[in-house]
Amino acid sequence: MNLDDLPIRDDLRGKTPYGAPQIDVPVRLNTNENPYPPSPELVADLAEAVRAQAGELNRYPDRDATALRADLADYLGHGLRTEQVWAANGSNEVLQQILQAFGGHGRTAIGFEPSYSMHPIITSGTNTEWIQAGREEDFSLDPGKAVAAIEEHRPDIVFLASPNNPTGTAQPLATIEAILAAAPGMVVVDEAYAEFAREGTPSALTLLPAHPRLIVTRTMSKAFAMAGTRLGYLAAHPAVVEALLLVRLPYHLSTLTQTAARVALRHRAELLGTVDALRRERDATVTWLRSKDLAVADSDANFVLFGRFPDRRKVWEGLLERGVLIREVGPPEWLRVTIGTGEEMAAFRAALEGVL
Ligand code: PMP
Repeated sequence: MNLDDLPIRDDLRGKTPYGAPQIDVPVRLNTNENPYPPSPELVADLAEAVRAQAGELNRYPDRDATALRADLADYLGHGLRTEQVWAANGSNEVLQQILQAFGGHGRTAIGFEPSYSMHPIITSGTNTEWIQAGREEDFSLDPGKAVAAIEEHRPDIVFLASPNNPTGTAQPLATIEAILAAAPGMVVVDEAYAEFAREGTPSALTLLPAHPRLIVTRTMSKAFAMAGTRLGYLAAHPAVVEALLLVRLPYHLSTLTQTAARVALRHRAELLGTVDALRRERDATVTWLRSKDLAVADSDANFVLFGRFPDRRKVWEGLLERGVLIREVGPPEWLRVTIGTGEEMAAFRAALEGVL
């Protein structure tokens, strides 16, 4: 029997699953992870915290993850309280819960592409209709055009990734405010890469007090170097969190996940200490790529989109042959490289020079 023989939902027939290749190569710069592993002190602290919890694993976890949410609210600042913060297994699960609560059959969500490919996938997975709007040549958003698209389609949910994946583009607050003023439903600002933003790029968290239908999502997968933990979260009006409680599975966040995330938050000075190094490496990468006469999108994230290659597959393969894995994603002639350590970026530069 194969997949086609199963009575699977009609709208899933012929689809392919999300998947960045997980290939074992010396230099892995393809999934926007933080290249710095946790310190021995963090590992020891985590092992001790897990040991302390292990004797109680016969019990379900704290269903509402209250202590973790309090720690996340403290990290986010902006006067946020526990009841305004919600957490799940990665921000992908947070996004799915938002769609389960605010999307569904007969409802629509809009996004500005190229953007994070999971937004449309989670949208259609929850039986919500996806509406695709566009971006400018430089991947920025024209606020007038964004508002016009929202007024035309009246979507139930607006997705805005800022900084955007795969382009690295951040949105000015004025654009987000214009979208909030026009949107009839919920507005989700996906800030998975917020900590990497350049000086002077503020977070949409500052808009929360005046905008009860705004949701800002974050993750510990990137700046926090905790991708393996699977912990994403959001900040919103307390009523939004109440809505998500209606759709979340009971005990969705394991005791071990909650424990690991809280330990990571205690070590945030160390973990976020890698962010400055990564931002410097990113800016140097942008400058270097431009010195090679390549097109490079301005980036507020821990990756850089560059091109343009009439045959990008050939460039991607050439890099892979030299032991460097990047991502073939985004508009047809562009490639995306995640920022790694200084050594990894030197290997990337040497490999790309070999290919060019
Ligand atoms: N949002 C954006 C824009 C992303 O790029 C990613 C990860 N690639 C996510 C959300 C999901 O990350 P996670 O589920 O690991 O929190």
